[in-house]
Amino acid sequence: MNEKVAFLLNQQINKEFYSAYLYLDMANYYDAQDLDGYANYYMVQAQEERDHALLFLKYMQINGLKVTLDAIDKPDKTFTSLEDPLQIAAEHERYVTALINEIYHEAHQAKDYRTMKFLDWFVDEQMEEEDNADTMISRYKLFGQDPKGLYLLDQEYAARVYTAPSLVL
Ligand code: MG
Repeated sequence: MNEKVAFLLNQQINKEFYSAYLYLDMANYYDAQDLDGYANYYMVQAQEERDHALLFLKYMQINGLKVTLDAIDKPDKTFTSLEDPLQIAAEHERYVTALINEIYHEAHQAKDYRTMKFLDWFVDEQMEEEDNADTMISRYKLFGQDPKGLYLLDQEYAARVYTAPSLVL
């Protein structure tokens, strides 16, 4: 496999684990505010990110590539309002989309059609992640300022359950 593609795939394992860390930090923030629904939403999100990391790792294993596990950065975002994590999450997902696009670009350059096909699932996933993150912001803006509205939103997010990724390697 192309060296640059292999490097970026390996790097993405770390980036996805960092995403899980970031979302756990958000879950902690909401838990401290007793917004258990929002906390649950980000706990589930963290599980999804761990799954993403493991999918990249498994893909490398299957293709006989050496995996190097690096230290995961500390989540260093400061949340000063209930809306902060929502904004940071949306921003972060756009960053992850850019990372996926970069791997896709390098795979395309290298005529690595197998990796492009693998990444297709993540391209779709990122569309959904960005949409979900943006929706959480707009719904917070619409309903979250009102205590009853916030209560209902929190109840709704409490119902989110973890499901395994549809991509199986
Ligand atoms: Mg992810």
